[in-house]
Amino acid sequence: APAFDVAAVREDFPILARTLHEHPLAYLDSAATAQRPRAALDAEIAFLESSNSAVHRGAHTLAADATDAFESAREVVAGFVGAAPEQLAWTSGATAGLNLAAYAIGNASAGRGGRAASRFRLFAGDEILLTEAEHHANLIPWQELAARTGARLRHIPVREDGTLDMDAAARLVSDRTRVVAFAHVSNVLGIVNPVAELVELARMVGATTVLDACQSAPHLRLDLPALGVDLAVFSGHKLFGPYGVGALYGRTDVLEALPPFLTGGSMITTVTLNEAEYLDPPQRFEAGTQPVSQAVGLAAAVEYLGRIGHDAIAAHEASLALRMRDGLRGIEGVRLLGDAADAERVALWSFDVDGVHAHDVGQFLDSRGVAVRVGHHCAQPLHRRFGLTATVRASAALYTTEDEVDRMLEAVSGVREFFGVTS
Ligand code: PMP
Repeated sequence: APAFDVAAVREDFPILARTLHEHPLAYLDSAATAQRPRAALDAEIAFLESSNSAVHRGAHTLAADATDAFESAREVVAGFVGAAPEQLAWTSGATAGLNLAAYAIGNASAGRGGRAASRFRLFAGDEILLTEAEHHANLIPWQELAARTGARLRHIPVREDGTLDMDAAARLVSDRTRVVAFAHVSNVLGIVNPVAELVELARMVGATTVLDACQSAPHLRLDLPALGVDLAVFSGHKLFGPYGVGALYGRTDVLEALPPFLTGGSMITTVTLNEAEYLDPPQRFEAGTQPVSQAVGLAAAVEYLGRIGHDAIAAHEASLALRMRDGLRGIEGVRLLGDAADAERVALWSFDVDGVHAHDVGQFLDSRGVAVRVGHHCAQPLHRRFGLTATVRASAALYTTEDEVDRMLEAVSGVREFFGVTS
């Protein structure tokens, strides 16, 4: 394989040429929203300039072209995660996908979807198992579902080193467990969770598994059918693609049995004033006008990743992850979250700087051209578990350079002195 050339990769991302306060931009916030390659920007514009129209409707040529582009995009994005096109429904993002899963299971619990859907049914006293490390998007929809059904929430604890306590997980799973939902990679800890083990635990008791693949899809080679999860979600804007698009993957038997969440146009066969019959998946989950140009842009983004190659990207990012870790470990007053020995991880580190609020750290870094995320990163319970309210998070992607990491490290090294912290 050709050697990975980060400088050449950077040429493909127009925004990376800009400056920030007269410094070259060092964008270390890809875990929040990743930058888009020219190929993804161009694909979306080309679609809008040539084929923009309503898909799956109308007999005119533009509508047919748009439908072809939309369905080809589905094939490409499904293929990117090892799935067949009919196993992938478009959503507006991971949050929408997780709400879809929780509300669809809620509809099944309310007796909707007939016999096939009864496998998802939750009764009072049933349990939904999550982890302490979830993004709010994978917590609150389940809190709402628990409130509607009388189910109980349980949470797999996170150990001090950031790994999941799998002994506790084994104890928490019982024949009351009906749903097990968890992140593939936590957006705060960066550690790859043991999906196979969690799926195995869930399978032993017949629980439905829901994987939040937001932070794994941009970095790992995903084969969702091989992982064995029932449902999975991810977001386009974290995967070098557009805002407002994402996907829900489902095992074929699961999607076929799952009732819809949103209802309306485009997801039906026959409608009377009092009843409607629904299309098969994935259209059953795609009510209303879909994010068509965004899907086309996302497909171009994952095709771009395919051209660069997962292995080359993974090797580059693995060395960045170590460089960040070693550098941050060496800075006085810095406490890394999730610094588990030997954990498989992505190039994402959250840390606390003793005596300086994360927001001040973020502003100080910004003034030096380094863009990081600060705050609770939509994971308040996880921060609380570590006795913190906010952290600084630096996250890398395929276009991140060692120099950018070093600039971040240098800035962090100076932050306590700048704010007059003495220790
Ligand atoms: N889950 C995880 C792990 C995330 O990192 C994010 C985005 N921060 C989400 C869910 C929600 O994604 P979106 O805002 O794109 O719906």
